[in-house]
Amino acid sequence: MAEADVAHCSLHPGIESRRTCKRCGRFTCGVCVSSDSVQCVQCYAWAEEHASPRAELSIRLAYLGMFGLVPAAIAAMVLVRRERRAISQVDAPRGGSDVLTSATLIASWSLVFYGLPLVFYAVWWLFVRPR
Ligand SMILES: [Zn+2]
Ligand SMILES: [Zn+2]
Repeated sequence: MAEADVAHCSLHPGIESRRTCKRCGRFTCGVCVSSDSVQCVQCYAWAEEHASPRAELSIRLAYLGMFGLVPAAIAAMVLVRRERRAISQVDAPRGGSDVLTSATLIASWSLVFYGLPLVFYAVWWLFVRPR
């Protein structure tokens, strides 16, 4: 292979690179690739600390659920599921995990607090209500 066809690691110019970071696209080598082996070490460190906009949105929706907006709580649960999958596939930063845990707690609380009475009321209205 000609020298021009060989990519070199962005941190270690002497080492040939066989892969690129999934997040920033920089060339990485076996020395500086992170333990998940798809990101460079800088991006790995960054991802520990950050949450994606979807994770942030899920907790905002969960808070809306606390005010009785049951559909917002349900939407928060759906977003949490999607974001967890994205994190496991390294498509979303892992810093979002803590945010997702809080969003799940808040959204489930809202669903129990507002959702169950709604179900009971619907059952009462449909079957028990004197006509
Ligand atoms: Zn990177
Ligand atoms: Zn390197």
